[in-house]
Amino acid sequence: MNKKQMNLTDYDEMYRNFSWEEVEQFFSWSKTGLVNIVYEAIDRHVDEGKGNKVALLYLDNDREESYTFAQLRELSSRFANGLRANGIQKGDRVFLFMPRGPELIVALLGTIRMGAIAGPLFEAFMGEAVKDRLIDSGSIAIVTTPLLADRIPFAELPDLKYIILVEAEKKESENQILYQELMNISNKYTIEWVDRETPMLIHYTSGSTGKPKGVLQVHDAMLHQYISGKYVYDLHDDDIYWNTADPGWVTGTSAGMFAPWLNGVTIVVRGGRFNVEQWYQTLERYRVSVWFSAPTAFRMLMREGNELPAKYDLSSLRHILSAGEPLNAEVIRWAEEVFQQPIYDNWWMTETGSTICANYKSVPIRPGSMGKPIPGIQVAILDDHGKELPPYELGNLAIKPPWPAMLRSIWNNTQKYQEYFVNGWFFSGDKAYQDEDGYIWFAGRNDDVINTAGKRVGPFEIESKLIEHWAVAEAGVIGVPDEVRGEVIKAYVTLKNGVQQSELLKEDIRLFVKQNLAAHTAPKFIEFRDSLPKTRSGKIMRRVLKAWELGLPTGDLSTIEM
Ligand code: ATP
Ligand code: MG
Repeated sequence: MNKKQMNLTDYDEMYRNFSWEEVEQFFSWSKTGLVNIVYEAIDRHVDEGKGNKVALLYLDNDREESYTFAQLRELSSRFANGLRANGIQKGDRVFLFMPRGPELIVALLGTIRMGAIAGPLFEAFMGEAVKDRLIDSGSIAIVTTPLLADRIPFAELPDLKYIILVEAEKKESENQILYQELMNISNKYTIEWVDRETPMLIHYTSGSTGKPKGVLQVHDAMLHQYISGKYVYDLHDDDIYWNTADPGWVTGTSAGMFAPWLNGVTIVVRGGRFNVEQWYQTLERYRVSVWFSAPTAFRMLMREGNELPAKYDLSSLRHILSAGEPLNAEVIRWAEEVFQQPIYDNWWMTETGSTICANYKSVPIRPGSMGKPIPGIQVAILDDHGKELPPYELGNLAIKPPWPAMLRSIWNNTQKYQEYFVNGWFFSGDKAYQDEDGYIWFAGRNDDVINTAGKRVGPFEIESKLIEHWAVAEAGVIGVPDEVRGEVIKAYVTLKNGVQQSELLKEDIRLFVKQNLAAHTAPKFIEFRDSLPKTRSGKIMRRVLKAWELGLPTGDLSTIEM
């Protein structure tokens, strides 16, 4: 696809003419047969004379640093050498439990560089969550900080042989290794050439619907990540790209690091916690041109109003993206006001490894829709038996396997892996429909779709309507059992800053949905809350709302943020 403005016909043509074999030609291994994603993402740029180009701009409240491709190549080689010298081997699982920062990135690249499997964990996890994942993955090493190490119940982790400590002065036990020492064992360039199908990452899913699953990704994912970077994130050589996701989630590695680096693009990483003002500062300071975040973050920015962003020079921004949750049309309208451009939603899962459906910068956008499949990947809306449904009928969002970044297994759980496949298709677990032009519209997760008075309603369109109400900041909608209607709708609502709760306001919100969406979608019950239960990756946990409502056990809460 060249960069001229596309219309729907151009998109169709690009989609038809696409071939993964052609994409392979872009990578050096099309000649050698040998691969390593770290070579293609980092080293290749050095070999091609771009070693001095900045790969990473890092900023937190105490540090501001930048790293070139050549520096990342050297640092991650050092880390790889250090692992090897300590006896860690290809295929071993090395987990990373540390703050989002340069050391985490070096460790991740170094681990994959030497053929081991990296498992990034979000730093806010508590001990049990870390333990579960280390045991499930059979991890033999963990890279962490002394502060975070205090949370880990080492006595319950007999297989964990190595504890690599970042930011530590001295060791406290035999099995500890100081990061600084490990990094100084050898600075020799190293790369482990592997097969395309060699595992590189285990990402645990967000835990929105239940216990998180260990999704195994292989080096071949690079083909897909490269294409997502090029076509969806629209990355060009001179872009400054900021993806706000933590590497503990697939968005943070796949879209945050590999997609841009495979395209040779500079990335920004902001450490520390979410902070509205600092986020705008970061956009301005680095003159970010492509910005990728999640609906929950955009809604939080929106909630703070339009005066703050007006104080910053955000003129460098030319493309804004969102993934991870449905993007409400109201949020897109807000972006058009504040950033003079829409936000482009794209849909995918940990299991898909990279973007599957997207709104493209050059294809007309339909706010509220997730756009169209990316080239090289076939998507369909199917009934429960795998039969294709006509436009506008709500069904299972499914993908035709295989595709390059697709999960190769659920670690330790073959049965779970097999359950994804029905009649030769991968079932996502999400419900959606297609319009007559092939745009895909998200309705909700399988378990979240509400059956009220014989009608099936997705929570997303009600939540989206709710946040169009002047007083509403966020909403989570569930069905509660009802003798007459099967289910009735209940909305948990957080209000914008400074808005007073009242029964009158509830009535007003109810009426608003009734008049602007449909009578049967108006929530029978509304409950105001200060916050909604969310995963650490920012997704509303409707199963927790349901459990509260029905007085049932809440299940695995290892990823919850309250
Ligand atoms: P778990 O699988 O553990 O229950 P999870 O599904 O939230 O958690 P992820 O793999 O992080 O874990 O998220 C994938 C899911 O996120 C998708 O199945 C979908 O429900 C939702 N999602 C991602 N992007 C979008 C989007 N653009 N629009 C709507 N939903 C999205
Ligand atoms: Mg899921």
